Amino acid sequence: MKAIVFEQHGSPHVLKYIDVPQPAIKPNEVLVRVKACALNHLDIWVRLGLPGVPIPLPHIPGSDVAGEIAQVGSEVTSVRVGQKVVLAPGVTCGKCPACVSGLDNRCRHFTNLGYMIDGGCAEFVRVPEVNCLPYPENLSFEEAAAVPLVFQTAWHMLVGRAQLQPGEDVLILGASSGVGSAAIQIAKFFGARVIATAGTDEKLQKAKRLGADHGINHKSQKIREEVRRITNKRGVDVVFEHVGTATWDESIASLAPSGRLVTCGATTGFDARIDLRFLFSRQLSLLGSYMGTKSELHAVLKLVAAGRLKPIVDRVFPLAQAAAAHAYLESSSQFGKVVLRV
Ligand SMILES: [Zn+2]
Repeated sequence: MKAIVFEQHGSPHVLKYIDVPQPAIKPNEVLVRVKACALNHLDIWVRLGLPGVPIPLPHIPGSDVAGEIAQVGSEVTSVRVGQKVVLAPGVTCGKCPACVSGLDNRCRHFTNLGYMIDGGCAEFVRVPEVNCLPYPENLSFEEAAAVPLVFQTAWHMLVGRAQLQPGEDVLILGASSGVGSAAIQIAKFFGARVIATAGTDEKLQKAKRLGADHGINHKSQKIREEVRRITNKRGVDVVFEHVGTATWDESIASLAPSGRLVTCGATTGFDARIDLRFLFSRQLSLLGSYMGTKSELHAVLKLVAAGRLKPIVDRVFPLAQAAAAHAYLESSSQFGKVVLRV
């Protein structure tokens, strides 16, 4: 089969479009003919290499897959050959207390497709049967592939961790990212007031079309001052963080008393400091969030199928041009998801 493979970490040029053997499935697994694979910031981290994370090389990246079942293992009962599927990116042991409680993103063996195991930037990918999710028939393969990772992440952050309530104010950083564009829609679905940040006025207009009530241009405006103005000096109940060092101080300063900051990433760096007097006297909560559970993804896909949440696809590249797609994602000029068509 054709696949995008890298044998060493580095710039997008390490991504090669080559022939590799088709994966062999285990009895509890399915082989999926990939139709589309969406990119995430995780793909860039995996390609660059992360300290202390021994990514197996050579490696096929890609976490977000939509396609059709090509082959099923002898123990598989819930899907059949030819069926369209979206795949849950998280692969876990399925047996530990966390997994059997439905909190599979807390599994010690958690990994994503394309992270510690081969992923979907290929004509075929193998996954456990339990990772097959119902296909939302209202979406193209490119749109369907754009759903799983960012929507499960944003849902777990806002609903699972921050427990967002109707009427609350939420500050969503990086509205033009995949996770930001998902978070705006989820926050509006739960009846919150959304303040979104982006680096251009054009991106802020797009954020407003997705439902954001207010926009802050983080290049020309100071986030904490605009939040104070919009909330009548009160601050927001929830800050949706994934940017890291570049926005951390603004995020903390934007919280209302007993506000919650929830973070899933550190795109601009992982060094952050906090004044503990501010933390305890204002009774703030700092919440870490990692990926999401399969049950949350089932909930998300119901709403996607009903048209209540929709993936935003910025641009589609052919699989062979994965290097160009990575470079485009790194340029941060997109609004929504960058997807590879297979
Ligand atoms: Zn487990």
